[in-house]
Amino acid sequence: MKAVVVGAGIAGLVAAWELSRHGGIDVTVLEVERRPGGVIVTEQVDGFVVEGGPDGFLAGELELPELANELGIGERVVSQRARGTAVWTGKALEPIEEGRAAQLLGIEATGAEVKAGFRSFMNGMGEPVAALAQRLNGTLCFTQEVAGLVRQGSRWRVAITGGSAHDADGIVLALPAYAAARLLESVGVADARVLAQVPYAASVTVSLAYRAEQIGNRLDGAGFVVDANVVGAQHAAPLLRACTYASQKFPGRAPDGHVLLRAYLAPMDGDPAQTAHAELAKIIGIRAEPLWSRVFHWNRGLPRYGAGHAEHVAKVRQRLSGLPGLAIAGAGYDGAGVSACVRSGRQAARLIARAMAR
Ligand SMILES: Cc1cc2nc3c(=O)[nH]c(=O)nc-3n(C[C@H](O)[C@H](O)[C@H](O)COP(=O)(O)OP(=O)(O)OC[C@H]3O[C@@H](n4cnc5c(N)ncnc54)[C@H](O)[C@@H]3O)c2cc1C
Repeated sequence: MKAVVVGAGIAGLVAAWELSRHGGIDVTVLEVERRPGGVIVTEQVDGFVVEGGPDGFLAGELELPELANELGIGERVVSQRARGTAVWTGKALEPIEEGRAAQLLGIEATGAEVKAGFRSFMNGMGEPVAALAQRLNGTLCFTQEVAGLVRQGSRWRVAITGGSAHDADGIVLALPAYAAARLLESVGVADARVLAQVPYAASVTVSLAYRAEQIGNRLDGAGFVVDANVVGAQHAAPLLRACTYASQKFPGRAPDGHVLLRAYLAPMDGDPAQTAHAELAKIIGIRAEPLWSRVFHWNRGLPRYGAGHAEHVAKVRQRLSGLPGLAIAGAGYDGAGVSACVRSGRQAARLIARAMAR
């Protein structure tokens, strides 16, 4: 039996990992980019660990530690060190309850969940991605854009841009909802149109490296959020939304005597690194230019579910039950966090493995 997973973000990699552990299933992963991980991007720069996308997961979520144990990297999980968050009022940094800070950032978690803190990996969130890619070596195909899906009897044909194709008994579409919607509509899942409308918020993350003595103020806690209402009353909406003191939040993010900051900005014209540095310089008293900076643009980053989202997804899944061997996974459906994506990749894989066994 042959299974194809479309998309090598965390959901697709986990789906492929789960399928590869079922006996007798030959797995292929098709990914349009040149690297695995999707929005999980970790770079090692001069002894710093730079996160472009997610930088951690809630400590109460067990999906990543469980996966890490399966992959033999369980001991690489690290816990948040510095705790506490502030809010920038436009005039001062004032301590704020962590649950409230998460709410301001649109993180879907209860106050109690956030209170337990976050966890990550020694070398960043790219570590489980790298471990999965290593275990799936030989099944990952890059620069393969899936352009079409056709039902052929009880099997599927996956068409790639450029003309090649793969036949399969089971398919996991581990794509952003808007990309999956097109393929699902083409195989007659009419309700999939609603998935194309799941909004994905744009943002920019900027990592900035400094020598410790360049930072004038003492950095308390793990970072701060910018209160849009307070600042919005004085200026237009603030470009800087939040800042993580990355080198205080998790161990090993910067060499001794250095500080790594990560700013979250609204989508903007101009130079995000310069804007981030200028804003942070005012707030935490930075006295010199950064040693370097690294900018990541997320034109369609985090999905934000609207009213009726769960019902829409349930309807699509209901339709999919009439198309055995086809499943959806990823951030667009049952939770946008990395842990939810791990869960969703596993569930989709189990569903199509059962369908293929019939
Ligand atoms: C800036 C940012 C910060 C975040 N911070 C956190 C955090 O701290 N903690 C947390 O838990 N979550 C966080 N998240 C959310 C979480 O990282 C993502 O929701 C999750 O990683 C998405 O995984 P995925 O596999 O569903 O999708 P993706 O990572 O989007 O993967 C989908 C893959 O499909 C590929 N693809 C698309 N179209 C095609 C095609 N036609 N053919 C083949 N391949 C295709 C893409 O190239 C991509 O590799 C953050 C997200 C962002 C953007």
